[in-house]
Amino acid sequence: MHEASIALSLIDVASEVLRENGGARASALTVRVGAWSSVVPEALTAAFPACAQGTPLEGARLSVVLVPGVGECPTHGPVTLDVRRGLRCPACGAPTPTLLQGDELELDEIELAEPELEDS
Ligand SMILES: [Zn+2]
Repeated sequence: MHEASIALSLIDVASEVLRENGGARASALTVRVGAWSSVVPEALTAAFPACAQGTPLEGARLSVVLVPGVGECPTHGPVTLDVRRGLRCPACGAPTPTLLQGDELELDEIELAEPELEDS
């Protein structure tokens, strides 16, 4: 369960952020997943709720922002890559072995839940 361990590490990072915010809970979080990372967004969002149980992230909504791959073509400079074609410039086919973006897996945003109102 590759995605479950990724979900757990994201929850770790997010929990840390929440602790820094005074132990708040999150209602939603957004992660950026590169098209060239080995993560399947659907599998990640599917694994998340179970992994979040018992953490400050329990019940939070997980959104995945897919980051396209960008390579560096010697002729065309930075070009957006097509995952199906591999690490090649889509315009001229030159190899673009360096990935400028698209392999990330990072926490982008955490939406804090409203603190629960205490009965008085
Ligand atoms: Zn090119």
